[in-house]
Parts: sequence; C-alpha cells; structure tokens
Amino acid sequence: MSSRAFDDPEQEEQRLAAVAQIRQFGDPALRTPAAPVAAFDAPLREEVERMMRIMFAARGVGLAAPQLGALRRLIVARPGGEEEEEEGEPLALVNPVVVWRAEEEEVGEEGCLSLGEIVVDVSRPVAARIEARDPAGDELEIQAEGLVARVLQHEIDHLDGVLILDRTSPEQRREALRELRATAPA
Ligand code: ZN
Repeated sequence: MSSRAFDDPEQEEQRLAAVAQIRQFGDPALRTPAAPVAAFDAPLREEVERMMRIMFAARGVGLAAPQLGALRRLIVARPGGEEEEEEGEPLALVNPVVVWRAEEEEVGEEGCLSLGEIVVDVSRPVAARIEARDPAGDELEIQAEGLVARVLQHEIDHLDGVLILDRTSPEQRREALRELRATAPA
C-alpha cells in the first residue's frame, strides 16, 4: 500500500527502481486469485526477504506476492507505518485469512504500489482478526485495528485479485481509471 517521493535523490532513485519491479495496473497478475503456499522452505524465506526489501525501498507499508508476479498467498507489511518503524517488526504472513471483521467501518485514503499516484477513499472494518502462518510454518493470529487492520485487509485483497478501485465509490473509480489511462505507458 502507498508510496511517495523521497527528497533525497539517491533514495528516490532506489524507490523508483523498486517500484519498477512491481506489477502495475493492467497486469493480469493483479487480477488473478493466488494459490496457497504449500512449502515452508528456504526459497519461501528468500522470497519474503526480497518482498521486504522492495517494500522498504519503494516506501510502501505493505506488499503482496502477486504484485511481484508470484501468484502465491503471501504478504508483507510494516505495522507501524513509516514514521513508527520502532513500533513493530515487519510482518510476513503466509496464507492469511480474515476470520473476523468488526461491524463498524471507517473511510480512509489508500494508495497502492501497483496504481501509481492514485489515492482513493476506501471504507473498511475498523478491526479484523487474521489467521496465518509465519515463513517457518508456525501458526499466527493477529488482532489488528486502525492502520494495521487497513493495511492487512488491503494486502489480503490482492491475493484475491481485488484492488482499491473495486472498493471505492463509482465516481472515484471513474476518475482513477481516467488518470491511469492518461499515464499508462504506450
Ligand atoms: Zn496494493
């Protein structure tokens, strides 16, 4: 989820190089449901490390494997967001499932590393409980609220081929599509 420019030219160059590795709107991988991960092996842990590197360099707060073209149910996120990096270790969730959602929803602005500069309003449950495995195969249960709940729900949506364009108002969706078509590479 989300990205914006760095002031420092070197960091900005690295950000753009990371974003260039992320599939962009129009790529079929973003619309294809991903398959469960079956093997908790060294290649999986290498894939997680690569996703973390790209997420940090791209200045994102979350990244899903299909955004790198891997149709596997795997996401990474940093719970504290960029300003609160000390607040929590980055998370890697394998085969995550939302097992409970709060009834109350809240509207928040979301961007996506696969949608360029697009930002739209998305209404989501304010809290969610997620079951998953860690890259070693151990079971995890996360009770998330606020930004963490929003980021995890956004990334899990990617595993089902769902984008924020599907979750915003028809007006904002139309406007975003117009902008995406105007900026799409020829
Ligand atoms: Zn996204």
